[in-house]
Amino acid sequence: MATAKPTSSIASRIDSLAHNLWWSWNPDAQRLFAALDPQLWHATRNNPIRTLKLLSPERRKLIESDPRFAAEVDRVERLLRDYLDSPTWATRKKKLANKTVAYFCSEYAIHECMQQYSGGLGVLAGDHIKSVSDLGVPLVGVGLLYRRGYYTQEFASDGSTRVIYPELDFADLPITDTGKVGSVRIGTVDVKFKIWKQSVGRAALYLMDTDLPDNDSVTRQLTHHLYGRDSTGHERDYRIRQEFLLGVGGLIMLEKVGIKPDVCHLNEGHAAFNALERLARTIKSGKSIIDAIASVRHSTVFTTHTPVPAGNDRFDPELALKYIGHYAKACKMSESDLLALGREDPTDAKEPFCMTVLALKLADHCNGVAALHGEVSRSMWMKTYGVTDPNDVPIGSITNGIHSETWLAPEARPFYAKHLKPKWNGAGPEHDPWKAIDKVPDAELWNLRNLLRAKLIHGIRQRLLEAIARGIGPVEHYARAYQTFDPHTLTIGFARRFATYKRAPLVFRDAKRLAKILGNDKRPVQIVFAGKAHPADLGGQGFAAQIYKHASEAGFAGRVAIIEDYDMAVGRLLTSGSDVWLNNPLRPQEASGTSGMKPPLHGGLNFSILDGWWPEAFDQTNGWSIGGKQFKDQDKQDDYDAKSIYTILEKEIVPAFYERNRAGIPTDWLKRMRRSMQTVCQQFSTGRMVADYVNDYYSPASK
Ligand SMILES: *Cc1c(COP(=O)(O)O)cnc(C)c1O
Repeated sequence: MATAKPTSSIASRIDSLAHNLWWSWNPDAQRLFAALDPQLWHATRNNPIRTLKLLSPERRKLIESDPRFAAEVDRVERLLRDYLDSPTWATRKKKLANKTVAYFCSEYAIHECMQQYSGGLGVLAGDHIKSVSDLGVPLVGVGLLYRRGYYTQEFASDGSTRVIYPELDFADLPITDTGKVGSVRIGTVDVKFKIWKQSVGRAALYLMDTDLPDNDSVTRQLTHHLYGRDSTGHERDYRIRQEFLLGVGGLIMLEKVGIKPDVCHLNEGHAAFNALERLARTIKSGKSIIDAIASVRHSTVFTTHTPVPAGNDRFDPELALKYIGHYAKACKMSESDLLALGREDPTDAKEPFCMTVLALKLADHCNGVAALHGEVSRSMWMKTYGVTDPNDVPIGSITNGIHSETWLAPEARPFYAKHLKPKWNGAGPEHDPWKAIDKVPDAELWNLRNLLRAKLIHGIRQRLLEAIARGIGPVEHYARAYQTFDPHTLTIGFARRFATYKRAPLVFRDAKRLAKILGNDKRPVQIVFAGKAHPADLGGQGFAAQIYKHASEAGFAGRVAIIEDYDMAVGRLLTSGSDVWLNNPLRPQEASGTSGMKPPLHGGLNFSILDGWWPEAFDQTNGWSIGGKQFKDQDKQDDYDAKSIYTILEKEIVPAFYERNRAGIPTDWLKRMRRSMQTVCQQFSTGRMVADYVNDYYSPASK
């Protein structure tokens, strides 16, 4: 927030820069913020506003008087202006001229200092917004602003996990108070919300916050937790009220800030009440029910994100009616017809009300997040459409991507600038700088890989030391941190939420065989894990504990590490440093899995079950596929897949990494690195993905 400092002061100019999250993918801006005070920058999760606030008076004085600081602020301000002023793909191609798309999502991962995300859905939404900014697409994001956000995870010495919820002071975050408030009736309560804005390059997110003195104490908690509960303890009741706020309150919020969306994109079913509210409004404006449904459907885009049943929100009919019952009258239908909008079988009065079904029934433009996930979704939702052939289910697919600049290590930027000359700014989705990777000399590409691996190992040790310093335990543990990992060893990374279907500990299934692979003196291997389990997911918590214990066992000590927490910073560290990215979900439960799209930016190779996005990308030359057969019995599946992992490691991955020419370069490995970069980086970027959404869905839906 703007403070009363004179506008010319360096601190207030840095504060202004910090309020456009463009810096979250610009290394020059980040470098400037870090220079304020590197330790504070690290301690605040790289939060420029908190760093500024906590600066010592001496440091503040120095910054205000050092001409080099002033020159650097000038330069970064110019970079931001250049970014904002450059012509964009959407304007050049006249995409969505005079139209507005509203994008609804329950979580956004824009930067680690905003603890407003839990995992892949948030990361995808954050990357979507950033590419919307790059491409100049007229889209605004809608969400909730969580005061207690998502938790940080720490380990106790037995491997059990402890969760710590942040208590965010919104004045410390790179967001702006719009000064506007809105109000939405949820059940019998008038819920007031404050409207915050977060600028992300050219794009913006509007966020609702109900923690206001005007609301009662239960309502104040409505925006405290992401996927949690309030003090009443009713998780389902909390969830449905949050979803009502997101979908319906979100629409009211947009009116308050003067935005009238032409298209609403419901990113996951959480916001599906939005379509119901628009239906009621359209009927109120005088349209017949049939016309109103057609009009809402035409202008609604819905993306489903998971085939896992628990990921598709369902509510008891009574609970649903408590909050949406009034729509029966508003939409001129009976309560059972209303509930039928959320039922796969409209005649089954016992069936719960499902948000995914509601969204599918009220959106013409529906998609899964990878080709395989589209196929799985078509089979999964046949009943909803009353058909028996999956091909008759109108769910398409747009494969996810990542925002390349966000995930690109700053240390790789000079290499990119020299060899690939990417035009990040103003380029369209057809611009593909990775094609040129063939021209880069082997030695330079290999140097980059070695540098990023060394950085990863430094980062792992640093985080281990911090965890040891924070924990209660023997002082000998300090030495252990320095014995962890080696910068020349083949390094495998695994980082994702510890949802059970992702099978984080699978590689330990035959611990002896794994120990033999990792412990080979001439050709050693090391594996780093990171991940969080939801506090209510005991299976996932157990996974974290298992890996934690393995990391200190004799056969694995120094070769297996687990990082305490998992956020965007840890994600960047692991995906940029790892040589191999391991992914072994139970097929076909991984809808997309975007983490595997990040290592190829740095020459990392995927080693993955053919699930989610990987069947589209894998071509034998750019990584490896695990398993292939599917079993009904999970025990058999785990055995089979684990064996496949060991065999490929022993026969292919380890030899290819350690097979060197006279200059010490693994030429076969480098061929694969180049193929990985060429086949993944452009195709699986959000630049390509957002352009697909514009062309295939937003443009037709806006007409
Ligand atoms: C990339 C990323 C994800 C998504 O990874 P999946 O492979 O989809 O599980 C989740 N969390 C963080 C912090 C990430 O960086």
